[in-house]
Amino acid sequence: MANENKLQAVIAHAKEYGFVFPSSEIYDGLGAVYDYGQWGAELKKNLKDYWWRWMTQTNDKNIVGIDSAIFMHPQVWKASGHVDNFSDPMIDNKDSKKRYRVDHLIEGFIEELKRKAFEKIRGKSEDSLLDEGHIVSVADEDVIKDENYLKAIQLEKDLDKLIAADDFAGLKQLIEDNKIACSVSKTVNWTDVRQFNLMFSTEVGSVAEESSKIYLRPETAQGIFVNFLNVQKTARMKIPFGIAQIGKAFRNEIVARGFIFRMREFEQMEMQFFVRPGTQKEWYEYWKAERLKWHLDLGIDPAKYRYHDHVKLAHYADAACDIEFDFPMGFKELEGIHSRTDFDLKSHQELSKKKMQYFDADVDPETGKAYGNYIPYVIETSIGLDRAFLAVLSEAYEEEDLSTEEKQDSRAVLKLSPKIAPIKLAVLPLMKKDGLPEVATELMAECRKHFKCFYEEKDAIGKRYRRMDAIGTPFCVTIDHQSKEDGTVTIRHRDSMAQERVHMSEVANIVKAAVSY
Ligand code: ATP
Repeated sequence: MANENKLQAVIAHAKEYGFVFPSSEIYDGLGAVYDYGQWGAELKKNLKDYWWRWMTQTNDKNIVGIDSAIFMHPQVWKASGHVDNFSDPMIDNKDSKKRYRVDHLIEGFIEELKRKAFEKIRGKSEDSLLDEGHIVSVADEDVIKDENYLKAIQLEKDLDKLIAADDFAGLKQLIEDNKIACSVSKTVNWTDVRQFNLMFSTEVGSVAEESSKIYLRPETAQGIFVNFLNVQKTARMKIPFGIAQIGKAFRNEIVARGFIFRMREFEQMEMQFFVRPGTQKEWYEYWKAERLKWHLDLGIDPAKYRYHDHVKLAHYADAACDIEFDFPMGFKELEGIHSRTDFDLKSHQELSKKKMQYFDADVDPETGKAYGNYIPYVIETSIGLDRAFLAVLSEAYEEEDLSTEEKQDSRAVLKLSPKIAPIKLAVLPLMKKDGLPEVATELMAECRKHFKCFYEEKDAIGKRYRRMDAIGTPFCVTIDHQSKEDGTVTIRHRDSMAQERVHMSEVANIVKAAVSY
């Protein structure tokens, strides 16, 4: 299935089967905001539990979890740099009133130029050919010499230079010189370029004064930093240790596309790992490798993941990389791993005038003295829960052709890892009579104590199987007349569709073995 079609199919499936709905749909939705339906909420919760358990329970790296508030003192965002730096340069088209991120607008134009160069020389414009590495390896000299291609390369250089220098007048000039038009109005009637902060703000209390302005947190990490000493002291944590948190974050994204990939309200699962200064490099490498293992444990093809090391580092980082996933829109960031130095704790210490130091009683073998007081360095792992949801959902989704010579048939199936599937077992009496529902209810009562089950007695069994396939239920059990006689049932496996006869007393254990982690 072509990528664009795959994304559309996943969006439609997510809506039809109760995974994700557009927010406030009866009012035509709200841009880049989504609601999770009955099965989506289960899948999301299972992903959270899987992460939380891995971080705070099965891990031997001394990590505890917290749950801090969304609202924080406004000074927090001053110290973190979000008030001054968490912004993108934007430009508005005066005719269509459409707002663009300047870099996206210019990059779109650059892509168009490259596409033209390819079309002219090769007579085709597959998006894959736009990938820079591919161009150089497959392109004939003619492409590289094409005037559109050369212009695109020059524009890329100019864009990087102007963005790095915050030269807004220069960026506007670049747009005008190249006659880059709005996709809606087709005009080049642009406002000046302005910085647009991505944080949402609101007022606390009843008085609308500047001092009462607060922000909805754009990341969960700061809740961990400001509680660093509370946790360290009350849990008597010794460095190295970590603090994990799952929670909502809000960003007024301007270009919000890709379904739940880029939302204005989303959820993050973040862990800050506090280490002794000087050891951050080895811990960074450690978490980089460990986090990939977490992803791979979900059973997805390893070729779907890759690292992207950052060349340009944020002001607070001394190393950073993304774990990228091959979404239906191509490889994109799923999780970030950042070596954040002591930037955040130090900034909070400076602004709050409260010490953010840790006393390390361990002896430094080089000096023979205790390490003493210092501000720890931090390695952060930060994954978007909604992006993880999209990754597993789009990877699990398959349309299978089951046609035989006699009849045409197909099914939509979610081949989700049983660990995170919304429902683990469907219990289906073959008929609504002859005491079969009673046997099924008994089995339900036993199994629902251990995992999420679903009971259904309506419709032909084939239809019921298909509905369970579509929401990713790994096991279905059918109760028939023989079940009443000898206590055996048919268990059907979602992926292979294979069926086997087992005793009812074995069902719970079979399912438990597949879903536990
Ligand atoms: P991007 O470059 O895609 O905007 P980012 O580098 O700003 O992401 P971080 O600030 O590192 O992202 O946030 C950590 C994680 O939070 C990301 O890896 C991503 O999974 C998730 N995330 C960030 N912004 C959004 C969003 N608008 N919607 C959904 N998830 C998001």
